[in-house]
Amino acid sequence: MIKYFSALLIGFGSIGLVKAQNDSTAESIREIYNLALNEQQGYKWLGELCGLGPRFAGSEQATSSLLYFKAKLDSMGFKTSLQAVKVPHWVRGSQEKAWIVEGIDETEMAITALGGSIATPAGGLQAQVVEIPSFEALDTLDLEGKIAFYNIPMDPTYINTGFAYGSAVKQRWGGTIEAAKKGAIGVVIRSLSSSINKYPHTGSMRYAPDVKKIPSGALSTYDAELLHRSLKENPDLLVKFQINSEWLDSNYSYNLIADLPGSERPEEIILVSGHIDSWELGTGAHDDGAGSMHALESLHLLKKLNYPIKRTLRLVWYMNEEFGLSGAKVYARNAKNMEMRHVIAMESDGGGFTPKGISMQTSPEMVERIKGYRKLLEPYGIYQFSSGGSGADIGQLQSDDIVLIGLRPDSHRYFEVHHSALDTFESVNPREFTMGSATLASLIWLLDRDNVCFNCGG
Ligand SMILES: [Zn+2]
Repeated sequence: MIKYFSALLIGFGSIGLVKAQNDSTAESIREIYNLALNEQQGYKWLGELCGLGPRFAGSEQATSSLLYFKAKLDSMGFKTSLQAVKVPHWVRGSQEKAWIVEGIDETEMAITALGGSIATPAGGLQAQVVEIPSFEALDTLDLEGKIAFYNIPMDPTYINTGFAYGSAVKQRWGGTIEAAKKGAIGVVIRSLSSSINKYPHTGSMRYAPDVKKIPSGALSTYDAELLHRSLKENPDLLVKFQINSEWLDSNYSYNLIADLPGSERPEEIILVSGHIDSWELGTGAHDDGAGSMHALESLHLLKKLNYPIKRTLRLVWYMNEEFGLSGAKVYARNAKNMEMRHVIAMESDGGGFTPKGISMQTSPEMVERIKGYRKLLEPYGIYQFSSGGSGADIGQLQSDDIVLIGLRPDSHRYFEVHHSALDTFESVNPREFTMGSATLASLIWLLDRDNVCFNCGG
């Protein structure tokens, strides 16, 4: 009986303790969001970054933007270092044009070269065009001597537009090879945009070593629709397009690494990251200036609040996610060689829209454990905790001993701006963006305090 009562008392006592801990944890998180929303410091940095111009890997601008912020981080007390990364050097030309040609009538269309495409002949490339409405249809079509027109829209029924993008992106990265195998002389694709607009969206494409290289560009969705309708009326119309991109010798740039050493377990690293390179049609505000600044601001918030952090907090700005992930590959290789102990890696590469949750790549037990944070983060609109992909850059670090986490912002508007001239600072909302930084900071705070063995293989 005494035993029973004392057990009951201990039980009640520990419930009280847990509640008090939860209350103080909730208060700490509230402080993170308060500071973030009052300051909006990351948004200001994002404005500064975008003001420096686009940051296409291989360009001088990409490296100089990185170095500009390195100096800033040095003055903020981060321990910074640079990691050399070999980057391809492809330059988009200024002469990007396309037309529908019917007799003497020419209707202009908006086009941009896909990243990595060779140029057309100087006067442009003109031929009959074959529309490809699906990947399956490709087998039955004769493309010999023709311009292939991939017109495969992003499926609008996906709620997460990332999946719609994933289902249609093959036309961009693999479509040119397949068309060239069938004798096509050029490729135009429908831009991977979730809306109909007049802005073409670029992105990387590939060639295969044993397949003829042919030029490829993306038409705006508005013009892809126009071409589709025009072909219905006149299947014999011609398309003419001109792009004058060129390949130069590879360059070197850097990943930026910035550490805040941990107080108890400095050898264990919590990495938080974005990619600093961008496409050059806009200024890469959402992709991935926002993610880069989410990562920086999250560490800034914890530092400014003076929260005790046991492990080393590491900011990584990867170079060249867009054009081959070379920065992430160099970082992961080096981390392995140096036997670095990464316990958690986070990435924000889904834009600066309202965050809704996270996607985790880790053991089912750890997923369940992190789902336990939901109650603390729900007041801030963070309620989606799912297993799945985390991010392309941190994915290179995948092992049994690491928890990979990708921030998941609302995706409905992301692919309207993604890889296009619309991806500018003006398209980022300060409050929506700032919620992302505070969410990452809160997760870091919770994970670092969680009494769990991260390197115990599950
Ligand atoms: Zn990105």
